[in-house]
Amino acid sequence: MKVFKFGGASVKDAQAVKNVGKVIQQFDDKLVIVISAMGKTTNTLEKLVNAYYFKQGNVAAILEETKAFHFSIINELFENKKHPIYTDIHNTFVEIEWEIEEEPQRSYDYVYDQIVSVGELLSTKIVSAYLNEEHLTNTWLDVRSVIQTDNTYRNANINWKLTEQLALELFAKNKALSTSNYIVTQGFIGASSENFTTTIGREGSDFTAAILAYCLNAESVTIWKDVPGMLNADPKWFDDTQQLNHISYHEAVELAYYGATVIHPKTIKPLQNKKIPLLVKSFLDPNQKGTLVDGNTAEDELIPSFIFKMQQVLISISAKDYSFIVEDNLSQIFSQLSAHKITVNMMQNSAISFSICVDFNPFTTYQFIEELQKEYQVLYNENLELVTIRHYDAATIERVTANKQILVEQKSRNTARFVMKDKVG
Ligand code: ASP
Repeated sequence: MKVFKFGGASVKDAQAVKNVGKVIQQFDDKLVIVISAMGKTTNTLEKLVNAYYFKQGNVAAILEETKAFHFSIINELFENKKHPIYTDIHNTFVEIEWEIEEEPQRSYDYVYDQIVSVGELLSTKIVSAYLNEEHLTNTWLDVRSVIQTDNTYRNANINWKLTEQLALELFAKNKALSTSNYIVTQGFIGASSENFTTTIGREGSDFTAAILAYCLNAESVTIWKDVPGMLNADPKWFDDTQQLNHISYHEAVELAYYGATVIHPKTIKPLQNKKIPLLVKSFLDPNQKGTLVDGNTAEDELIPSFIFKMQQVLISISAKDYSFIVEDNLSQIFSQLSAHKITVNMMQNSAISFSICVDFNPFTTYQFIEELQKEYQVLYNENLELVTIRHYDAATIERVTANKQILVEQKSRNTARFVMKDKVG
């Protein structure tokens, strides 16, 4: 069995859905096909939640927009206008309508999960019905009957033991699942122990694919993307990006940690734990080899990788009375970071100051700084970039730091990192 994952871009319109059929047709294996919401649906549903919960925006108009988007795709995919998919999708939208019928009773995060998860239900129903029409006979699986989580809405934690048990049981006992060659299911969503829908964090479908692969002991996972594989830099920054043909789990985790966005950071661990290879391939050119991620480290150092994070703030914290920054201070600073849900991208300390580089957030960054200013002297620099180079050399450093003023520099054997800004004058 292989697990495939198709993200939003690979099901963004009718043409793209047809292409999914063409891709899977080329494989003889049993496939578990994990699909995200179509195109930008998750963003639209987020807007809908905000409009409903905070009364910011026109709920009905946003709902109509997303309905029109899905029905236009169905219209293009199904000639038979009496196909049951029309009623099915209509009924799936009713789940949102129920949720927004009354004033919100529960937390924002809970409401978010009940509404935003519908995007994945819609897309998988449409793709499954379309594939069946094309004689790519498949079984639609509600992934919530497998993926069990706690009730941390919007960032739910997986109950691995229960999920594994349910997955194995269901795939062994359920006739449709055990006999179907194709199983179509949702990424991103799960169910809490009270049986409410949860989500596992934006872009979480890669992680879903890895969870299912782990639990079902899959042979491999393939993430189908609109790029030929993992590249050594975001093409946004470089014209001459190179493809990474083969990297290790370790390298993939490092790249994801430093901010490479090709695969969700949580994806690698379950795959590494069971030695399941991961492929990143192009759905536009499925015969190309793409990138292979597995336990082999032999090619990790062949190509340097560059990861850029923009909109960074460097915050330097020191004691008002010139005393040392010691463990007690650090623990206080970190508890403030955690309270403001701020992730540290880089840190550095000296005798009397502790510096951190974080993503700029118009709300939390200043709140955090004000909180710390009660006890510390806090200086900060905005509009910075943080660049990480894996497997650097003098030339690669020169390439990214030319015409830049470097504020912080850190180097380890494999990784060089710079917090910097444009040189003025
Ligand atoms: N649809 C979700 C999102 O856009 C999950 C995913 O696509 O991975 O974040």
